[in-house]
Amino acid sequence: MIVGAGPVGCCVAVLLVTAGVVRPERIALLDRQPPPSPTAADPIDLRVFALSRASERILLHVGAWPAIAAQRASPYERMTVWHANVPPRSADVLSFAADEAGEPNLGHIVENRVLQSALYVAATGAGVAFVAGSLQSLTADSRQVELTTSTAALTTRLVVGADGARSQVRTLAGLGLTAADYGQRAIVAVVTSQRPHERTAWQRFLGDGTLALLPLADGRSSIVWSVPDERAARLMALSAQEFAAALTADSDDVLGRLELSSERAAVDLVKQSADAYVRERVALVGDAAHVIHPLAGQGVNLGLLDAAALVQVLQDAASDREDPGALRLLRRYERWRRTDNQIVSATMDSFNRWLARGSGPVATLAQQALPIVGRSTLAKQLLVRRALGAVGELPRAAR
Ligand SMILES: Cc1cc2nc3c(=O)[nH]c(=O)nc-3n(C[C@H](O)[C@H](O)[C@H](O)COP(=O)(O)OP(=O)(O)OC[C@H]3O[C@@H](n4cnc5c(N)ncnc54)[C@H](O)[C@@H]3O)c2cc1C
Repeated sequence: MIVGAGPVGCCVAVLLVTAGVVRPERIALLDRQPPPSPTAADPIDLRVFALSRASERILLHVGAWPAIAAQRASPYERMTVWHANVPPRSADVLSFAADEAGEPNLGHIVENRVLQSALYVAATGAGVAFVAGSLQSLTADSRQVELTTSTAALTTRLVVGADGARSQVRTLAGLGLTAADYGQRAIVAVVTSQRPHERTAWQRFLGDGTLALLPLADGRSSIVWSVPDERAARLMALSAQEFAAALTADSDDVLGRLELSSERAAVDLVKQSADAYVRERVALVGDAAHVIHPLAGQGVNLGLLDAAALVQVLQDAASDREDPGALRLLRRYERWRRTDNQIVSATMDSFNRWLARGSGPVATLAQQALPIVGRSTLAKQLLVRRALGAVGELPRAAR
């Protein structure tokens, strides 16, 4: 039983079928409602992801990638990162390109709705049952888990909690949570720019936050503008014209004048990590297990790797006829993914603390190091590998 038909839950479902771990009719995907099917006429989803190559490989592996590539996926070829104390088109920026690593691109900008729907269609098309309802109770013992939803009572040998940052599975299974508020909000919107985005993901560390401009297929850009709570409230209250002027100023005119071409939304930024990802017959994946700062757009990439790692552990155990809910087995998954996720989360924290918001000697040092990294071929190769998601122990589906 997979609770949550977000991108990560749907990915677990379809991977389980692809890996032949369990027959599709014995897998159920529970959510309040099925995800909507996007159409070409829909406006761009305000939440977009910078999907890594590792994520692309997982999506190819489960047959969901062609549908995603056909729906406004936007390859980006370059990434330029700079601090507010240097000009954006100077030698002091950190800029790296796919062709430096012999790659066609660094990844793709993909809409949340497109990703979720493609994985949902792949999972249900492979025979996984969708169950509409909301999880209400969960009781796990050494043999099985009993669940009740708003519409049914169910029994299963393994529950996968893919129910997002406010996971009920995590709470009901008694898995603790360590959480901290960043005191920041991320404003997301779609903008047009006076100059072309050059298929580049632009990221400026502002002194009080971060601005990312992610290139969309139709020439517009999606923004993720992370700023302190009070400033976010002020920016959200501005008129569209005033907002665009403040945004253009914070972008240091890198693409010329920016204009809003969508609604704006603001999301609270928190850091979360489940104290344990597993207990007997229960495993957490994706945002249910960890929520990180969105400044490098890694959240869903980590979740898809969780999905692939969990399914690989279950697949290896199935060939040895091990019980899929056994704690000893689930701990293998936890050991594998928890450390990787914590490293990425801590890295995002340091970027946020020292580059995006920092002042004082350590922050100054970090800010001065950015252009030095930009001039180091080795460091840039490492950054390209990180952007591609080609680091750490990758599950087979992501290789
Ligand atoms: C502003 C912002 C920008 C971001 N940008 C990026 C980016 O560029 N790249 C990136 O990789 N990540 C990004 N992220 C992170 C990304 O959005 C998340 O990591 C991702 O959505 C997590 O997917 P998930 O499937 O784990 O959870 P979710 O997408 O939250 O899905 C959870 C599902 O569970 C269901 N559910 C919840 N409770 C219940 C219940 N009780 N019963 C039944 N169903 C339930 C929900 O309806 C939902 O469908 C960003 C996040 C923010 C806030």
